[in-house]
Amino acid sequence: MSEQNAIWVFAQQKNGKLSASAFELLAVGKSLAEKTRGPLEAILFGKDIQPQAAALFERGAQNVLVVDNPKLEHFSDDLYAGLLAELVKERQPGIILGTASTYGRALFPRTAALLAAGVVNDVRAVTIAADGAVIGNKPVYGGNAFHDISFGGNRPAFFTIRPKTNPEAEVAGGSGEAKLIELPGGLAANNNVSECNAAAGGEVSLNEADVIVSGGRGIKAAENYKLIDDLAATLGAAKGASRAIVDAGWVPYSRQVGQTGKTVNPKLYIACGISGAIQHLVGMLSSQVIVAINKDAEAPIFEVASYGIVGDLFEYVPAITKVFAEKLG
Ligand SMILES: Cc1cc2nc3c(=O)[nH]c(=O)nc-3n(C[C@H](O)[C@H](O)[C@H](O)COP(=O)(O)OP(=O)(O)OC[C@H]3O[C@@H](n4cnc5c(N)ncnc54)[C@H](O)[C@@H]3O)c2cc1C
Repeated sequence: MSEQNAIWVFAQQKNGKLSASAFELLAVGKSLAEKTRGPLEAILFGKDIQPQAAALFERGAQNVLVVDNPKLEHFSDDLYAGLLAELVKERQPGIILGTASTYGRALFPRTAALLAAGVVNDVRAVTIAADGAVIGNKPVYGGNAFHDISFGGNRPAFFTIRPKTNPEAEVAGGSGEAKLIELPGGLAANNNVSECNAAAGGEVSLNEADVIVSGGRGIKAAENYKLIDDLAATLGAAKGASRAIVDAGWVPYSRQVGQTGKTVNPKLYIACGISGAIQHLVGMLSSQVIVAINKDAEAPIFEVASYGIVGDLFEYVPAITKVFAEKLG
């Protein structure tokens, strides 16, 4: 059955828990489905994942296609892309939305390539023009300009959408029965992940964080990142870094914010001892409020900061941590 008007949302999960970005995709998908008059369907891969389908129905998915198999426990590029490509080939949705996370940006281009289809990564919006052309709107030059990229009438059209740029679909009370799909035997052999070691337990994901505390070379030594750890723990924030301290081996690459790291959109970004090189700024410029702590009043970070403290981070970061710890109890 061909359903080129169907809109698909690939619901990302980690350790069996749905990412909130799936609900943001459902909100975008809903507005597209109203235009195409097609069904809004969510796709869910994982192990023991079927119970998570209920949350997708509640937020507006009309169908949820679930492939529940132990081999899908951890994200694996080859296996996930092969499986998603098979489903798209068989069911022919028109537009497929995913999250512009490390995972989504690996999965979508690979899947699109298997289908000789197009993909636009890291858009903030997807719309359908009066002539039916599907268009992704993508920030460029560090969010200083926006670029429309049109698929015209070509389908399927794959997009990854930047997390936290769209509101989550509201709980509308929908329900339904997930459609369980078997993992094709031939694909199961493509699982190239045998083990997945989580980073430090309970760490807040940079992509989804409302508050991020980041450290740069101003912290002077790896052990001083503890100041960032403490402030982040007090605020329930995610921890970020400039490339300088990632390259120095003080923190893992997964924390790097910027052009060659992650693009983040928190409500609050606190930059400690970060100069504000353009390659760092492009990754965090869309934060709603930026607080910079730097002892150099001329540091470029102050040009983008909403609030700035010109001073020594070794004095101010522990003092701020103490105040928040007292206030937040
Ligand atoms: C192709 C390319 C890609 C890149 N990608 C990225 C990227 O993704 N992310 C990224 O971050 N960078 C990236 N960079 C590197 C970038 O150009 C900068 O070198 C880097 O961001 C600098 O990191 P920093 O601000 O921590 O260090 P510095 O520029 O050395 O700044 C340290 C700051 O700490 C302040 N400071 C020092 N001591 C104290 C103190 N006691 N209290 C308060 N402040 C203090 C100083 O005044 C200074 O402003 C990239 C570069 C290239 C060429």
